[in-house]
Amino acid sequence: MSTGGNGGGKPDGPDSGSIPLAGMSLEPQKRIRPDSSTMPILGEIRKRGAGASPGIAIGRAYVVDRRKLKVPKRHVNSEEIDIEIARFRAAIAESDGQLERIKNKLVAREGEDHFHILEAHQLMLHDEHVVDETIRRIREDHINAEWALRRTVEQIKHIFDAIEDDYFRERRSDIDFVGDRILRNLLGEEEGPVAPPPDAVVVANDLSPGDTSQLHRAAVAALVTDAGGKTSHTAIIARAHEIPAVVGLEDVTNAVGNGDLVIVDGGAGLVIVNPEPQTVAHYRARARREAAIGEALLANRDLPAETIDGHRVHLFANVDVVEELEGAKQHGAEGVGLFRTEFLFLTKVDIPTEDEHYQYARSVVEQLGGKVATFRTFDLGGDKVGPAGTSLVREANPALGLRSIRISLSAQGRPLFLQQLRGLLRASAHGPLRIMFPMVSGVAEIREAKAAVEECKEDLRARGEPFDPAIKVGVMIEMPSVALIADMVAPEVDFFSIGTNDLIQYTLAIDRVNEHVSYLYKPLHPAILRIIRYVADAGREHRVPVAMCGEMAGDPLFALILLGLGLEELSMNAVAIPVVKSVVRASTFEEAQRLADHALTLATPDEIEELVRDHMAKRFPEDVLK
Ligand code: PEP
Ligand code: MG
Repeated sequence: MSTGGNGGGKPDGPDSGSIPLAGMSLEPQKRIRPDSSTMPILGEIRKRGAGASPGIAIGRAYVVDRRKLKVPKRHVNSEEIDIEIARFRAAIAESDGQLERIKNKLVAREGEDHFHILEAHQLMLHDEHVVDETIRRIREDHINAEWALRRTVEQIKHIFDAIEDDYFRERRSDIDFVGDRILRNLLGEEEGPVAPPPDAVVVANDLSPGDTSQLHRAAVAALVTDAGGKTSHTAIIARAHEIPAVVGLEDVTNAVGNGDLVIVDGGAGLVIVNPEPQTVAHYRARARREAAIGEALLANRDLPAETIDGHRVHLFANVDVVEELEGAKQHGAEGVGLFRTEFLFLTKVDIPTEDEHYQYARSVVEQLGGKVATFRTFDLGGDKVGPAGTSLVREANPALGLRSIRISLSAQGRPLFLQQLRGLLRASAHGPLRIMFPMVSGVAEIREAKAAVEECKEDLRARGEPFDPAIKVGVMIEMPSVALIADMVAPEVDFFSIGTNDLIQYTLAIDRVNEHVSYLYKPLHPAILRIIRYVADAGREHRVPVAMCGEMAGDPLFALILLGLGLEELSMNAVAIPVVKSVVRASTFEEAQRLADHALTLATPDEIEELVRDHMAKRFPEDVLK
């Protein structure tokens, strides 16, 4: 962050000093670049991956060896074929039993948190593509069960490889875990348990959900893996348990030995192996500072997100999996502003039934104890290969293709959509629940989606199932087309939620996952600010609350300008709530409005960024804004 200097920005705030946070006076400090990876210190190894779960940890490496098993290759004669098939079936049964035992242990200890992932692996064990194909190879190619299985797994992974979507590519590791488990049972090899000593940094090529679920939050300092991306199971579970994690490091297991000292900076996606003493001292100080700030900020948990001059906003949590709810509550979330239901589809092999949607949503609603849960209907799409039954479509431009609400309204996707809607409606009988449609492009789509909700209400009435008849239905604003007619959309819906991740992608024509154009991904582009202001104004005029649930909402640097642009609800990764709240509570609405108005007069993202950074740097300690 570049700070300091006036850069033309007026000192807009009531005072330009630093803000005391819950009794702590945090003076602005000279910034020491935390990721001094640009200046590596001799002797230490720095590796960059994907920051999967924020936080700093320093600990000794515990290397989990899950190297590829050696597969014996053997041709079998006709008499041996049935024996090989029987061995294969026995190994599947044994694997099933093992997963069942892990699942039961886990459910007894932690509830049904990781249940679905293990259940998905159990289903995969019996998937026809795995079983029938392996048996066919044994029969037709006259090869032993291990070899046939390995070929089958490679073929399935090859299909996953062709998929461009990160989330789905990462599902390759699921088939690997399942294949390895069967293979171990064929070979009679035990998989050793993962039992790291307390405060260890677990280093692995990849971790199975079974492995990850054994790593208790208190016992493990951090997780780092060669494989995976931000949506891998390791990443999801690490975030849910607030364990710092860096994934996708490719070859970190080659660089780390058991017992090596390792620093993990989960926010920056940085791992430092065998750091020099000055690096350790720097990160220890930073970790202490961040812990102190985190604790101080948490003191505002039960206080309202209200400015000094009494302007109230609402801070909600974005949640991907039910495991994150506890953390959301602990960080003071007033509800869930975005529940991404895709994960329910993607961690299962079968399409979730109406009853599964109902049970899942009901458990979320009940855990929230009266706070609202906003469920976004599934945002699957394009080349995203979902559960059994959804076909694999190759598209030249998946981001612009058959995805999200377009699938929900398609002939193929509609039954899935109705199942989900009925499940959600039934769950609404148990507490406040809102339904939100993703990726809508205009009013016609919204009407069609709403008609589906009405149809489902009728079905439930006919079945005598209770639901909230006044359930609120809203839309995400992720496309310029729908943003620019927000005034026409507003009368059709109960709320808006601006999804900046996609809105920026579509407005600025920048693929959000393409690192070659990421330098153009500018949340403070004047076009984006104008759209936000326009949508906020349209919402206010029609009394439709306007939220934001894209990543922009959780960056404390943007908190004031978003307030000033007129947003009433910000939904974010739960850990960001305390710091965003501290910014809101230390500001006036008038200050926020002045900042937003000033920003709207500037023509380039850089000018706006300079204005915002200068303003915020004068008002808040850097550690808070980072
Ligand atoms: C968004 O696009 O801003 C959003 C919140 O949705 P997702 O990141 O799931 O696409
Ligand atoms: Mg989106």
